[in-house]
Amino acid sequence: MKEEIREITNRYKELMIDYRRDIHAHPELGHDEVRTGRKVADILENLGLEVKRNVGKTGVVGILKGKKGGKTIALRADMDALPMQEKTGLAYASKHDGVMHACGHDMHTAILLGVAHVMRDLKDQFEGTIKFIFQPAEENNPIGGAKGMIEEGVLDDPKVDCMLGLHVWPFLKSGEIGFKEGPMMAASDRIFIKIKGNSAHGATPNEGIDAGIIAAQLMVALQTIVSRNISSLDACVITIGTINGGYRYNVVPDEVVLEGTVRNLNPKVREKLPRMIEELIHGIVGGMGGKYEFKYVSGYPALINDAALSKKIEQSIRNNPKYDFVPITQSALGGEDFAFFAQKVPSVFMWLGCRPEDITAEEFVPIHNPKFNPDEKALQVGLETMTMATLDLLSGDEKKMTQKMEMSEVNYIG
Ligand SMILES: [Zn+2]
Ligand SMILES: [Zn+2]
Repeated sequence: MKEEIREITNRYKELMIDYRRDIHAHPELGHDEVRTGRKVADILENLGLEVKRNVGKTGVVGILKGKKGGKTIALRADMDALPMQEKTGLAYASKHDGVMHACGHDMHTAILLGVAHVMRDLKDQFEGTIKFIFQPAEENNPIGGAKGMIEEGVLDDPKVDCMLGLHVWPFLKSGEIGFKEGPMMAASDRIFIKIKGNSAHGATPNEGIDAGIIAAQLMVALQTIVSRNISSLDACVITIGTINGGYRYNVVPDEVVLEGTVRNLNPKVREKLPRMIEELIHGIVGGMGGKYEFKYVSGYPALINDAALSKKIEQSIRNNPKYDFVPITQSALGGEDFAFFAQKVPSVFMWLGCRPEDITAEEFVPIHNPKFNPDEKALQVGLETMTMATLDLLSGDEKKMTQKMEMSEVNYIG
């Protein structure tokens, strides 16, 4: 069976590259994935899947039923691009000005389409149901696209038992796949702080209330939350990314607006932060005579890989001698919309190496860069890995897989 699967996945190598390049050339921003969604839905329909269009605005769901019985496994890809001007110079570079697939979601979509082709060919050989979820707007934190699809019932009817997703990862080489159980990517929230003072002539600041000085104090003080109130064993970052205010070099500013991001991996830490931040703002702004408005907008939660499912998927990857499983010991503080799915059903999110063998991690252009150019060899790795993992989960051979896993060494730091 394994050899047969490999042979079938090989059939779709070129087609996946075609899909990816076409989607790459026609990138669309979050919740505007009209062409991409249509393309995906048409392909799935032609494969004979039951297709739902416009789920959570522009999302697409394809349902493939195997033999009767079995579980329902959901596989997810994201479809949106970023508002950036592409500078790769590739023949299939973006045709849309100021929009680019710089996060590799074109790769994810092509891989999942590839998996749909393979699974359709194998549908008489597995028991259960596969749900292909193509979500919009992964980059639209704090709203995102996953939430809307969940609200419209993407995880129900049939009810999803477990879920897999992946992201191309430049720190790993093509042929490497890695993840860790437990928290792997960060909760990613946004803060807006408006400080209100009172204007005066720059020569007589005592006659006003300087919102600029209050903002400066607050900027520094916010860092003491991380360094003095949160355990140093809990990852946490508060970054103020924009400071806006003031009129002129000799006018005391009456209003300064700070905007920032708050990241962490531990839900208990996340819970405490809005109150901690507001108390600090209240103390500093109030103590200096100003007023404030504060908004804490919860974005994506931490992405937590299910422990039991992680063991199964790790074993599934290790069973394929062609590729390497890389145990990940350090989480990333990037946010990922897949986290909403992982909150609802046991899930595993994988990092898929996309760096050519001959380029070092330092030399390779990272994601969210206008020159990001992932190695297309990763398409095949993603296709085989997703396919094998799904079949292993559906085959009911899990007990054996888990036992085998428990005996082998697991490199895990929680
Ligand atoms: Zn991204
Ligand atoms: Zn991404």
